[in-house]
Amino acid sequence: MKIKVFPVGSFQSNCIVIMDTDKKKAVVIDPGAEAEKILRDIQSHDCVVQSILLTHGHIDHIAQAGQFHEQTGAPIFLHKKDLDLFNQLPDQARMFGATVSEKTPTITHFLDVENNLILWEGLQFKIIFTPGHSPGSVCFYCEHFAFEKAKDEVVDLSLLLSGDTLFKNSIGRTDLWEGDYDSLIASVKENIFTLPDDTLVIPGHGPQTTVGFERMNNPFF
Ligand SMILES: [Zn+2]
Ligand SMILES: [Zn+2]
Repeated sequence: MKIKVFPVGSFQSNCIVIMDTDKKKAVVIDPGAEAEKILRDIQSHDCVVQSILLTHGHIDHIAQAGQFHEQTGAPIFLHKKDLDLFNQLPDQARMFGATVSEKTPTITHFLDVENNLILWEGLQFKIIFTPGHSPGSVCFYCEHFAFEKAKDEVVDLSLLLSGDTLFKNSIGRTDLWEGDYDSLIASVKENIFTLPDDTLVIPGHGPQTTVGFERMNNPFF
């Protein structure tokens, strides 16, 4: 499967697209901006968006979930503890001087931390609940991801999409909307640093890293 990371909008949040070009399926994670461009890219690979996943309810990760939903019909998944935040999208936009379409989409699917989220045969995520940056922040973990490194070269890797919980050499801020520093630190120590060292981490902003690198080098721990 292919992974494409699009840093989008004025916040440069990472919108992540995973595509299975054999099955012609795609999943979009955190569509904060530039939906048209990303949809065109997905269509150019003949893939169809199956689901829209949100790591948390901040504007820079959700602002165009509605647009993706309208154009693809794909359901939007969010942890229910961030539903209030999600519904406050217009308020978040005002606070940052941004504009969003007047229609806030409806969340019909809550992420279930008890069971793996099976997107299609060959791709499933464990939902790791990591409150702290926001009350309902999650990370998406795939233990065996068949990563298409190059044409005809597929490697098996562990993949973590860490949202704004863990960045390369940093962590997400906790001064917004019920953020909580101690919870964030505990979330990472207990639920992320216990994953295999070579797990590839794609954060919600900035460059990729690994669990082992952050455990050794991240100055917050
Ligand atoms: Zn955030
Ligand atoms: Zn963010």
